[in-house]
Amino acid sequence: MNHPVQMLGKVRHAARLIGAQAEKVGTLGAARWLSAVALARTPRSWLRTLPGRQRCNCCGWQGLVRLPSIDGPYVEFGTSCPTCGSNARHRFLALIHAAELAGRTGRCLWFAPEACLDRVVRRPGREVERTDPCVPGLEHAFDLQAIDAPDASYDLILCIHVVEHVERDRQALAELARILKPGGLLCLAVPMDDRQPQTVEFGAPDWDKCGHWRDYGADFRDRIPAELTTRQLKAGTVLRAEERASLGIHSREIIYLCEKPA
Ligand SMILES: [Zn+2]
Repeated sequence: MNHPVQMLGKVRHAARLIGAQAEKVGTLGAARWLSAVALARTPRSWLRTLPGRQRCNCCGWQGLVRLPSIDGPYVEFGTSCPTCGSNARHRFLALIHAAELAGRTGRCLWFAPEACLDRVVRRPGREVERTDPCVPGLEHAFDLQAIDAPDASYDLILCIHVVEHVERDRQALAELARILKPGGLLCLAVPMDDRQPQTVEFGAPDWDKCGHWRDYGADFRDRIPAELTTRQLKAGTVLRAEERASLGIHSREIIYLCEKPA
């Protein structure tokens, strides 16, 4: 049992957080955020056991309901797997990986690795090297805009929701193309809305938008180096509606597969 003074402190802290949210996203947004926090704090054990048709292809969970995902002021309901925490983008990547990448062996460089994808990415015959300058203990801490690796080093590169965090994204994409072996493949995704034709540059990281330097639009594809042969895979066109519904993947989720000619 908490001391009454401690409890009062906690209540004040919660009130400040809710007030800050209301300022950012309005009262209704704050209410959504609050209910998402309450749901996300719900013990997950019982959720994992309720039978249902929702499933996760990252960990194999199958059940009734997914949890909300909270990223700063952004709230999305029904997206986070109660077992592994995967979101829509992870499950779309797992699907694309199974269909297109599972046979790719050799050296694999994985930017900003996430635990829920570990079982997906680690395959027999693949040597996975992880990199993130903000996470200690990984194999590398590469600067994406000046990667400290020789040309033609990697057979496969995974770079999912990373380049929006760097100032010079075209330079970063050129670096990714440079370290790819001929015949190698870059699997790339950014948060984007392809209904917006042009990317909006902020000129600095926007900490209200998770430190992104820009909001990507449909022109993102033009930033990928032309030397790579690029295919755009959009969930709305490559997946059936029932498959998207059971995996909780939005129709606008996009992954680019960019191959360096052999
Ligand atoms: Zn899962």
